[in-house]
Amino acid sequence: MSSSTTSEFNIVSVPPKFISEDSLYSKLKALQEAQKSSWIGLNPNLVGKIGMGLGFSHSTRPEKIPKLLTDGIPERPPLISFFPVSENQLVKDSITFSTYTKGNFLQTKELLYRVLKTDARLVRSVLEASGFAYTDSHDWNILWLGCAPQMYLYEGLNDYQKVNHFPNSWEITRKDRMSIHLASMQEKFGKEDYGFFPDTYVIPEEYSEFYTRYYADKNSQWIVKPCNSSQGKGIFMLDALANLPTTEGCIVSKYINNPLVINDLKFDLRIYVLVTCYDPLRIYIYDEGLARFASEPYNSSVKASKFSFLTNYSINKKNEKFIQNQDWKQDNVGHKWSFSALVRALDKINVDTQFLMSRIYDLVIKTVIAIEPEVVAQVRKLALGRNNCFDILGFDILIDANLKPWLLEVNLSPSLATDSPLDLYIKGNLVADSLNLMGVRNFDRKKECMSKIRARIRARKNQVKQTDSKFKYGYRAETAPTSKNDSAALYIKSKAAILDTLEEASRIGNFVRIFPCQGSDIYDRFFATPRASNKAIYQYLYLENESEDIFKAPSKIETQETKSPEKEDKDKEKEKHKIIITGDDILIEYLSRVLHACKSVTSEMMKVEWRTCLEKFVNHYVWQSLSEPIPAHMGTLQKLEYRIIEMKDRRKQSETSLKDPISYQNQKHQVVRGFSALQLENMLKSSSKSVARDIMSCLFLDSTGILSEIIKWLASSSMKKPIRQQNVSRHGSLTVEEFEKNNQKNKK
Ligand code: ADP
Repeated sequence: MSSSTTSEFNIVSVPPKFISEDSLYSKLKALQEAQKSSWIGLNPNLVGKIGMGLGFSHSTRPEKIPKLLTDGIPERPPLISFFPVSENQLVKDSITFSTYTKGNFLQTKELLYRVLKTDARLVRSVLEASGFAYTDSHDWNILWLGCAPQMYLYEGLNDYQKVNHFPNSWEITRKDRMSIHLASMQEKFGKEDYGFFPDTYVIPEEYSEFYTRYYADKNSQWIVKPCNSSQGKGIFMLDALANLPTTEGCIVSKYINNPLVINDLKFDLRIYVLVTCYDPLRIYIYDEGLARFASEPYNSSVKASKFSFLTNYSINKKNEKFIQNQDWKQDNVGHKWSFSALVRALDKINVDTQFLMSRIYDLVIKTVIAIEPEVVAQVRKLALGRNNCFDILGFDILIDANLKPWLLEVNLSPSLATDSPLDLYIKGNLVADSLNLMGVRNFDRKKECMSKIRARIRARKNQVKQTDSKFKYGYRAETAPTSKNDSAALYIKSKAAILDTLEEASRIGNFVRIFPCQGSDIYDRFFATPRASNKAIYQYLYLENESEDIFKAPSKIETQETKSPEKEDKDKEKEKHKIIITGDDILIEYLSRVLHACKSVTSEMMKVEWRTCLEKFVNHYVWQSLSEPIPAHMGTLQKLEYRIIEMKDRRKQSETSLKDPISYQNQKHQVVRGFSALQLENMLKSSSKSVARDIMSCLFLDSTGILSEIIKWLASSSMKKPIRQQNVSRHGSLTVEEFEKNNQKNKK
């Protein structure tokens, strides 16, 4: 895209280009129309559209808080208000502490914050402007971390203390973990639903899969990124497989080589997402964000300058051509625009930005749902309060030339640096609006001592898997109620969650709530476990006829978490078909991957020690009692394949009583495919029976598993040519259908 108007499209470094705009714009429009016809997503018209500019009043349904919801709640401490700060309100000093030490307990101020592993100058400024003081004790109202928190930091929090991260939210913000979670959702729901992130491989674990893909798909370009890094550090385009680093963890992603460009410049979006609760899930998206431009014209060659294909501000600001914004009111000047400036530019050329938003909301919700089980489990284990944690996540999104948004990564601690007036304006408002929305309260330390103690006791109880049936309104998210006797507790929990939702809505500021919202029940099917609280809130907010029922009978709120007797019977039936992963499943998956990895090398390249290991394994005495002697003429890999097929056959026989063994197999298969080589090896090592341990030891060289050895070797040998191309599935193991085919062949 290029523009002829200079005032609106003002990237000063590059003069606007003139191209035949009409044809380009009508092409884009036609393309979007075609995509829209099969699209199922939220309607920003109903939900609220972001990119309208701060101060725009998003029409939210006026939420009346019924008295029933507040009945019986003890009086809560007053809320504190926060405001964006100006340049001269920014604190000047730096915080020097980077480790957590127990410091002064005695504090003179009532409102305390602590920061850790970050300077958080903007956050500190906003807090201090509202009367907060810094503390180095554990007695803070707010703890702001620049890293993923250690679990001990969550210990003994009272109901009103707040930490800026949920436990386990790094599961989506580490590049390798994000790839694993999204790939597993893609396996489950298909590319139609989870096709919004580029194909990615975690190296060295998925080296052999990448190796196969690299040679099978010669036209693709690949970009390499360190797993746990940011600001564009260590990123490069892969020009030859031999240049893929294999000693340190990294990911390699398919490169989106057709980005939408403005004035020839590639750009990406920084969208801010606030999650205030995972159970029930509440996701907000900030009206304003950033569009960050590369500082040199886009060039897709692998030899291109990093200023042309990386859009990170931290990289491009080092380019002499980089233009910094000088005035937040001119938010489309320089190499960093506001998100709303970009939306205005797209609107101007008739891009359907409503549709684009719907796709962005979709991608955000599905990404958060992908780690929901991990976070909820940890929150319950730690017995955290409903309102103890929040996350301000930075979603990096690239729009391609077909107007498809791609998720590049999610940042756990998005930069809140304020290098320009535009940064200060957007991020200052973001911080103040976030703190207001989540509701920070001025609690009385002495009074809240008891709730701290209760929290510790509850955490301990949860650890020994006891369920406290005395769920007190307004207190902790307990371990999920498990029987219908707990439905009263769930009823109270749902009421509390509805109250939280309504109260947050009354402080929504410049956020738009995208979950729950009108129509968000289309996302219910992506949850690993349907949550009663999500259902109750949706019912109350959007299913008018049923909303009152919530307060009449607790048993109305019925999901997998609380069950009616009939449903319990049905569920017992279902229980019979629960997926149980056995040691055999792990071993079959492991051996299939070993076989696949070995097939990537020629027999001359097979190391003697690998062959010896495998021979020991396939000839282990344990097989004598289980199967026929293996035909002597077979090669090592054939023997291995033979053993795998035998094991699968045996497993199949033991599952003949199931109604649908094939689907059961497929479900198991999906689970085990999610494990990395190392995880599988750790499971194999931990076998409790001595015979099992003995046969497993054949698969280890010292303490390293044979699969890890082969992967490491494959990764470190600078192989220039494909040795043998295998058209195999990504994780190397056989699907049930493939297995069936092989088995048939073998029998013949
Ligand atoms: P970091 O955390 O280091 O910023 P990102 O994943 O955000 O890493 O990538 C940095 C930049 O690299 C992005 O802003 C984008 O410009 C470019 N980039 C990353 N992945 C891709 C990709 N798959 N296709 C195209 N460009 C990409």
